[in-house]
Amino acid sequence: MQYVDSLLDLIGNTPLVRLGRTLDLPDGGPLVLAKVEYLNPGGSVKDRIASRMIEAAEASGELQPGGTIVEPTSGNTGVGLAMVAQQKGYKCIFVCPDKVSEDKRNVLKAYGAEVVVCPTAVAPEHPDSYYNVSDRLSKEPGAWKPDQYSNPHNPRSHYETTGPEIWEQTEGRITHFVTGMGTGGTISGVGRYLKEQNPGVEVVGADPSGSVYSGGSGRPYLVEGVGEDFWPDTYDRGIADRVIEVSDADSFAFTRRLAREEAMLVGGSAGMAAFAARQLAHELAAEGRSDAIVVVLLPDSGRGYLTKVFNDDWLGQYGFATGAQADARTVGEV
Ligand code: PMP
Repeated sequence: MQYVDSLLDLIGNTPLVRLGRTLDLPDGGPLVLAKVEYLNPGGSVKDRIASRMIEAAEASGELQPGGTIVEPTSGNTGVGLAMVAQQKGYKCIFVCPDKVSEDKRNVLKAYGAEVVVCPTAVAPEHPDSYYNVSDRLSKEPGAWKPDQYSNPHNPRSHYETTGPEIWEQTEGRITHFVTGMGTGGTISGVGRYLKEQNPGVEVVGADPSGSVYSGGSGRPYLVEGVGEDFWPDTYDRGIADRVIEVSDADSFAFTRRLAREEAMLVGGSAGMAAFAARQLAHELAAEGRSDAIVVVLLPDSGRGYLTKVFNDDWLGQYGFATGAQADARTVGEV
């Protein structure tokens, strides 16, 4: 019989899939491979950090049997933590602002987590503010806050799993690694591992226009999960050889193309990273680097964004291309 004891045994070891027609590359161009992280059991790359952060807190005694995990998140990290916590018998409380969609809250509740919703329209000093509520809850007896923005086990999980997987899957032939940056855990952990194996591997960040990683001031952008208005502790500022800035319009148009032409239903941050990888591949092709092997990490699935990136009314409301135009091969041409 073939089975595993728990879904937790299925975290990581995600496949590499060659990107094809969306690259519009000439024959003999570089090979571009997508690391498909939505095939993790919780649906995103964040399962990796959730399990590693929890294991480390168990080992250090910060998280005791029957304890409660408190984190201010409503996204993928929440799902990863909720899944691991449930399997290991911990309680989970997520604190999120009221602007977070009901769908996202319901996903966390479905895994058995508690969700505390805080008003957005109060000052940070207010006792009901998102910051104060999560602070207060994480100071209760038995509570532990992973804090993905400062926890060293976030980048470490990528150094120990994602990096080695990519190195082995490409038989050490990877030349470029491309990924978006939120906490910076992925780029820092994978980048460090790959550079230790071969200092010639180029580490390329993809970043929404406006974010600090590409020299912006934190100006708002719509793509979710990536870009910041501050420098997190989990980001190694020496790791990226280069950062490619991508507009929301290009991120969303390319996300749609990945679904329609590569059958990869992914989120906007994956579309952003893949668009940057495509731009890089065109540059490499122009330099005659047909030997280059580019790996781009796709963090999550498009299922969570059906009412946004894949909804023409939503795109149209922000002035982005919609319908056939959004899906056209010419949109986002480099
Ligand atoms: N994409 C999505 C959808 C995410 O949720 C995240 C994590 N915030 C990222 C990309 C970026 O990953 P990291 O935090 O490791 O930089």
